[in-house]
Amino acid sequence: MTTVDDTARKQLQLIGGSWVEAASSEWIAVENPGRRETIALVPSSGEPEVEAAVAAAKAAFGHWRSLPARERGQLLTRIGDKIAENAEELARLIASETGNAIRTQARGEAASGADIFRFYGQIASEQKGETLPFGDDLLSYTVREPLGVVGAIVPWNAPVTLSSLKIAMALAMGNTIVLKTAELAPLAVLKLAEWADDILPSGVLNVLTGTGEAVGEPLSVHPDVAKLTFTGSTGVGKKILAAAADRIVPVTLELGGKSPAIVFADSDNDATVDGVIAGMRFTRQGQSCTAGSRLYLHEDIFDSFLEKLVAKLAGLKIGDPLDESSDIGAIVSEKQYDTVCRYIRSGIEQGGKLITGGPDRPVDGDGFYVAPTIFVGAEEGWDITKEEIFGPVLVVIPWRDEADVIAKANDSDYGLAGYVWSKDITTAIRTANALEVGWVQINRGGGQLPGMSYGGNKQSGIGREYSVDGALASFTQVKNVTIAL
Ligand code: NAD
Repeated sequence: MTTVDDTARKQLQLIGGSWVEAASSEWIAVENPGRRETIALVPSSGEPEVEAAVAAAKAAFGHWRSLPARERGQLLTRIGDKIAENAEELARLIASETGNAIRTQARGEAASGADIFRFYGQIASEQKGETLPFGDDLLSYTVREPLGVVGAIVPWNAPVTLSSLKIAMALAMGNTIVLKTAELAPLAVLKLAEWADDILPSGVLNVLTGTGEAVGEPLSVHPDVAKLTFTGSTGVGKKILAAAADRIVPVTLELGGKSPAIVFADSDNDATVDGVIAGMRFTRQGQSCTAGSRLYLHEDIFDSFLEKLVAKLAGLKIGDPLDESSDIGAIVSEKQYDTVCRYIRSGIEQGGKLITGGPDRPVDGDGFYVAPTIFVGAEEGWDITKEEIFGPVLVVIPWRDEADVIAKANDSDYGLAGYVWSKDITTAIRTANALEVGWVQINRGGGQLPGMSYGGNKQSGIGREYSVDGALASFTQVKNVTIAL
């Protein structure tokens, strides 16, 4: 039964410019995983809401696509400005629902949302075609047209960044969108949608809440959805690809990873230790697709580097995501917490040596906290070495021969990110060139910046985001027009 308290915590979803609940009148509780408190209820939607949202996006498409690209861009830039003005409110929502620490993570994510909208707002007029040189008797040119209604599905781990990418890229190129939020973290995206809806024509942006089965599936098979863009696990990504194949619609997939970080013997220093921690996304509890979770350390520096790494990690404070002093927050949910602990226990059972961390809760309280955990002695075929854990678990493997470490780094079904640490730039670039991944960083462990082409190879995905080319390739189709003169 819904109580008075629940009524106050209800958040609605955006369909065609209206804020609505689900026809079923059912709700999903959103929890703060650091405190295990329900912080809001969102509609548990289904097919009727998908139908209504797709219809609204379809109705809004004609007008939106006809606007000059720069005009669309200016509206997106205004959304970016609005996010920047209210970034603290957004950061607090992100920290509350994802468990990511406000100081080290959530503020940066809110800022990234503003940055992404401003970037795509500024490049909207790059949606240009070409004129072809067929001589004086023919005028032949191409136009880059929008695709229509985009169906977008996002995960919980970086809800604002990932939703901003999908919305800004799709809308800049003249498409309209129906975006399904993640059940665990819909609140910051709903807030962003509230601000965007004040700026955009109704129906251009529609944001739904609900489960993958009830909302994601009908959205992915809807006949009026002209493009699917999905960020999430490889398993669900395969279902989205099958749905796209059935109707032959273009699809972008940003999926999982088990990314290698290779440290050469010349990089046994504090800056590299900090970079490895950043690349492993330890201050995001390792809940990142690009986490450099397989660390290949050169044998000559294995012990000394590891010692520095463990000492640095010991200095990071784990605690309440909303506490300014926390470096590391909470795992997003009990299910994810259990998965991470299961992997840690399996690593121990298989004979891996735990250097730091482990399955015991590192802080008092009800939240789902896991300390940064490091294994040595794990073999290549073990689950902890080859599967994406999506938690703060790093496997460290010694190496001596360059060709051998590259072969090991590439021996993965995934191909998302890679990190190379060496002072010798020739060695570093040679290694970067040899890695079978979509995004390599040399001597840097930070995140993506708007403009970089980002996306995965192999089972990490199809298509690119963050860049101008990504938006053009993924959210437009080319038409050739040829005229006899
Ligand atoms: P998930 O695949 O379980 O869920 C992602 C989204 O898909 C959610 O909104 C979910 O409700 C929806 N969904 C679930 N089943 C569905 C179905 N049958 N049809 C349609 N939609 C469905 O992933 P998650 O646990 O939310 O996120 C973690 C995963 O996301 C990790 O594998 C991570 O690597 C990946 N990820 C990738 C990137 C990238 O850029 N490559 C970025 C962030 C996260």
